[in-house]
Amino acid sequence: MTSQQTGGPLVQLTGVNKWFGELHVLQDIDLSIDRGEVVVVIGPSGSGKSTLCRTINRLESIEKGEISIDGQRLPEEGKQLARLRSDVGMVFQSFNLFAHKTILENVMLGPTKVRRTSKADAEKRARELLERVGVSAQADKYPAQLSGGQQQRVAIARALAMDPKVMLFDEPTSALDPEMINEVLDVMTSLAREGMTMIVVTHEMGFARRAANRVVFMDGGRIVEAADPQTFFTNPRSERARDFLSKIL
Ligand code: ADP
Ligand code: MG
Repeated sequence: MTSQQTGGPLVQLTGVNKWFGELHVLQDIDLSIDRGEVVVVIGPSGSGKSTLCRTINRLESIEKGEISIDGQRLPEEGKQLARLRSDVGMVFQSFNLFAHKTILENVMLGPTKVRRTSKADAEKRARELLERVGVSAQADKYPAQLSGGQQQRVAIARALAMDPKVMLFDEPTSALDPEMINEVLDVMTSLAREGMTMIVVTHEMGFARRAANRVVFMDGGRIVEAADPQTFFTNPRSERARDFLSKIL
């Protein structure tokens, strides 16, 4: 069970189906993501994008199908799930930092509590990560003292502190004031350039053009279309994608 043992896809969803009661929210999702690939997921509100993200680290269960991370099938529960889940870093629209802990403590928390990393090692790594996302000067402050853009960059550092194999971003800039969006997208773009495997739900089409290897368009719980950004934006095949793009571009 060593990591990186497979030459296959890093994230693989096969025939994934999920229901919320009567609502068939994910329908026959097949998606295979290679190491270092950046996949941008777009689609109308309610199309299942967040649910897709949440199933990938089993914040939501699925009724049918299979999800594997680095060749390991995700179990429903138990110790192995906790371990595999920590391979997946997640950044949400709301930053969810611990309000009563400093920025540095927020980033150290996962490694010290879950990974049992020593405090000294966790602090060293946390400071490096805060530097990388450009908020090292804020290390001893509390979340409320930071701007939204700074808090979201801390949330990215916190996820990276667990050394995930893949990073999921669910509308990471949707709650930010416009002038703060780019500072977060810039951090994400450099992560992408450094080879991080990423799944990004976003309406930021500039980011998609710049950083994505592939754009996946969802509607009604299905993947309707997937293509490289150039092809997708200039020549979407489906009527639904054309209609969606005409509304957001
Ligand atoms: P998106 O992120 O694309 O806007 P979601 O994945 O959040 O879409 O939601 C997809 C559908 O599932 C929506 O119709 C939503 O109302 C429904 N849904 C999401 N979460 C739940 C839940 N916990 N219980 C019931 N329905 C849900
Ligand atoms: Mg959503």
